[in-house]
Amino acid sequence: MNFSGNCEICEKEAAEAECFLCKRVICKNCLAENVCIICNETLCAVCKKQLSDRACNICGLLVCEDCSVKINEETICLNCSSKGRF
Ligand SMILES: [Zn+2]
Ligand SMILES: [Zn+2]
Ligand SMILES: [Zn+2]
Ligand SMILES: [Zn+2]
Repeated sequence: MNFSGNCEICEKEAAEAECFLCKRVICKNCLAENVCIICNETLCAVCKKQLSDRACNICGLLVCEDCSVKINEETICLNCSSKGRF
């Protein structure tokens, strides 16, 4: 891919990649795994493919809807629920 212009986060380096979540073009320094450093902070800790919108009530991990289950009004991530504690 060919990116023109500078990184949309630091605005200092030439953009070399695109965050697949927010579609910002970013430089190497602002790339964390496959997403930008901003999305990386709110990425689901389980699948790392979607933004998280809730936190596990047991371990506190940020997870997305697909990676959590609701048990008695509590949000439990798949990591915790697969440990057989519920
Ligand atoms: Zn950058
Ligand atoms: Zn992003
Ligand atoms: Zn997820
Ligand atoms: Zn958990």
